Amino acid sequence: MSDIHPTTPDAADRADSPRSSTLPAVFVGHGSPMNTLDDNRYTRAWREFGRTGPRPSAILAISAHWYVNATAVTAMPDPKTIHDFYGFPDELFAVRYDAPGSPQLAGEVAELVKPTWVGLDADSWGIDHGTWSVLAHMYPDADIPVVQLSIDASKPADHHVTLGAALEPLRRRGVLILASGNVVHNLRQVQWHQPDAAFDWTREFDDAARELIAERPGDVAELTRHRHHALAAPTPDHLLPLFYLAGIAAAADAPATPFVEGYAMGSLSMTGYTVPGG
Ligand code: ZN
Repeated sequence: MSDIHPTTPDAADRADSPRSSTLPAVFVGHGSPMNTLDDNRYTRAWREFGRTGPRPSAILAISAHWYVNATAVTAMPDPKTIHDFYGFPDELFAVRYDAPGSPQLAGEVAELVKPTWVGLDADSWGIDHGTWSVLAHMYPDADIPVVQLSIDASKPADHHVTLGAALEPLRRRGVLILASGNVVHNLRQVQWHQPDAAFDWTREFDDAARELIAERPGDVAELTRHRHHALAAPTPDHLLPLFYLAGIAAAADAPATPFVEGYAMGSLSMTGYTVPGG
């Protein structure tokens, strides 16, 4: 029997099962950077997603925190961990997420989204906390290559839905597309001492998003005309990652459904969504 090599059911499952042929895509409401270090029902849901899903060959992250006037991808082989926040404990500044990059995936992204021009970033960005606060739970070993795509602040809302749709084929190349923001994100209205509270307008906007991306994901930009849009998204950066997932759902003709739901501090939605793989 020396020609039979031991394997784990998990490894065999991941390598050969049909469900690994198309990766799911995911939107995460990342909330406070402290979620990196916390153990709560959101971080447990992120861990469960990473533990039970097919193992990606690479991760393309679209984070609220790389919101600039250009479309760019990180194209360096060893992206740095960026601590893009202030006023948090030293322990958080000590976190490093040393996943490799993937210049190859960066090139594939640039091809897929043509005619949108994509800058290949060699040294300005890296992996920001919108990405690593989540990946520290989903893939704590940091052994899967990570590429970030910036959100171009100069483009209209529909553009981001279109780019999401253009990226959808990456799912069949083993790439996990991770969009990271918050459907509702208003730091001026935050109620620091009410960790699980939600304003009525927070719930109403979150409900509208849930319904829209389940039923008509291609029309997600309608959220920018919702009566509570100015309160829910006083700046567009945290809402726009959802538009990428909606574009993927529209292109895949598959529903985006919540895998975790809830609110934090009145004016944050922590709801996360997946588009199923197959
Ligand atoms: Zn954030």
